[in-house]
This record gives sequence, structure tokens and C-alpha cells, in this order.
Amino acid sequence: MEKVIEVRDLRKKYGNFEAVKGIDIDVFKGEVFGFLGPNGAGKTTTLEILEGLRKPTSGTIKMFGEEIKGDVIPEIKERIGVVLQQTSFLDHLKVKEILELFASFFKKSISIEKALEMVELKEKVNAYPENLSGGQRQRLAIAVALINDPDLIFMDEPTTGLDPQSRESIWVLVEKLKSNGKTIFLTTHYMEEAQRLCDRITIIDHGKVVETDSPEHLILKYGGESKIDFSCTPTPPTEKVEELERELQGKIHKLDDHCRIVTKDLTQTLEKIVLWSKKNNVSLTDVFFIEPTLEDVFLNLTGRELRD
Ligand code: ATP
Repeated sequence: MEKVIEVRDLRKKYGNFEAVKGIDIDVFKGEVFGFLGPNGAGKTTTLEILEGLRKPTSGTIKMFGEEIKGDVIPEIKERIGVVLQQTSFLDHLKVKEILELFASFFKKSISIEKALEMVELKEKVNAYPENLSGGQRQRLAIAVALINDPDLIFMDEPTTGLDPQSRESIWVLVEKLKSNGKTIFLTTHYMEEAQRLCDRITIIDHGKVVETDSPEHLILKYGGESKIDFSCTPTPPTEKVEELERELQGKIHKLDDHCRIVTKDLTQTLEKIVLWSKKNNVSLTDVFFIEPTLEDVFLNLTGRELRD
């Protein structure tokens, strides 16, 4: 598989503090690559180095097979798009003029109409950024990043602070870009975003790579066991609960008004709970299956949640 980014032993020091401590990253053509980690893990530092905004202390970076020494060369800049966490626009320029300005920085660009069509913002072509909603401004930022028809798009927490509808529309757009063969380097603090969009994820913590794999494999390897939550009416006496524990060979945890059992085998455990409830004439209410998620992977690998 063709590598779009290859990073080896990347390090970055701020004074005496080493924020990035020798990380390796491989990003393959056409994938959505997630770069995740708790606050302060070194994501932005790494991303800014890859985007050419910061200089590394040491390490090698190859983009499109070309080693980057010093500044990112213009030929590579032509092939990159960057969506920052927040973008400031010149408020006296209309949407159309902003896109024309950015298009003028590149040798090759797509039409303003096409860029706005991709982010579903055509009707705002003559609007001023200050009159756009948060979600629309972020879509404009994406249109700016796409104006040079880049092969590789960096997206630094593109949906932070957006409402669910705007977030969904950006997710659909990322999926569309991927299906058009683009490579996307994404950082996010949203677990569902990473789980839905990313083909592979590298998790970093304290400036080091902790693990790299697909979301599915990460969950399988580090997500831990599944859980079943349930309530019973009437509340069974302690000896009946102990009987169920013996049956399940596991501890039943009392949580507020419901019970929780941790299990490797959801089906078999549920069958046993149902049999027990029938035998003891109790009704099961509010039965929930809780499958492990990337959030659990995070907690297990880093001891912290995605967001502090
Ligand atoms: P977040 O999820 O909070 O955005 P992050 O993973 O992007 O965090 P970075 O912003 O890369 O983390 O920061 C990594 C570490 O480097 C942190 O401890 C941070 O305080 C430190 N750091 C970042 N920028 C500088 C700087 N310019 N000078 C000194 N230390 C810095």
C-alpha cells in the first residue's frame, strides 16, 4: 500500500520539555487516519509539524514519498489541505472572495462553485462569514482546505463545539472525500467520530505512540468485557441474587436502581438471567447491553478519558 505520510522517531522539545518523544506514524493512501490522545498528549504539536507550521527537534518525515527537510516544499503544499480547529476569516470579504483569495495561492484549484457544492454552502456564496452559523463557518473552512483539490487533508478536531446536525454533515463530507480517494489525517476528541470515520487509529499519550490499529481491533484487544444492565420487579431478596451470581459465576454489581453484570458472553449470560427470572417470578425491566467502545480502549490504555 502506498504511504502518504511516513514519520520516524519524531521528537519535539519546548525548552527542556519533550512534548513528542520519538513517534512513528504511517498513513496510507485513501484512508481516514485517526490521531487520538488525551489532552496534552502531543497531537497538535505533531500535526503542526506535519502541516509545516512547526519545526521538529529531530526525526524524519516523508510525504508522498519525499523527505521533508526544513520547510515543506511548494510541490507538496499544493497537494495538502488543512482544516484548523478554528479559522478566522477576513470579515470584510464575502464567501466567494475568500475562496478566490485562497485559490490564488495555488497553481491548481477547483471552481468556487464546486468547493461550495461539496460542503453544501452554495446559497451562501455572497454572504459574509460573520453572518454564517458555527457549522457553516466550519464548512467554509473545509471548502477553503479543498480549494486546491488536495490529496491529503489534515483535519484538527473539525467538529469540536458543533451541534449534532453540523457534525453529521461534516462526517458525511469526510466519507465523501474518502470515497473520492482522498487521504484524511484526523484528530478528534469525539469517540463516535473516530469510531465511525477512521480506518486506523494511532493513540498517543505523553508524546509516545501507545498503539495503532483499526477501531474494531482496538476495541477487541483493549475494550474489555461487555456488560448487561437490568432491573427486577419485585426486587429479589439477597439469597436470590446470590443464587444468580452462582449461576453466572460472576458478581452482580448494584448500581442505583439497577444491577450490572460484566460478561464475555452476552447471549449465554442473558439466557441465564431470563431463566432465573422465570424461576423466581420476577420481571426483568430495562435490560441494556453495553458493548465496549473506543472510550473504554482509551481508559484502559491511557488511564484517562479522551477529554479531561
Ligand atoms: P489537546 O488535546 O489538549 O489539544 P495535544 O495532544 O494537542 O492536546 P499539544 O498541544 O501538542 O497536545 O501539547 C503537548 C504538550 O506540549 C503539552 O504538555 C503542552 O503543554 C506542551 N506545549 C505545547 N505547545 C507548547 C509551547 N509552545 N511551549 C511549551 N510547551 C508547549
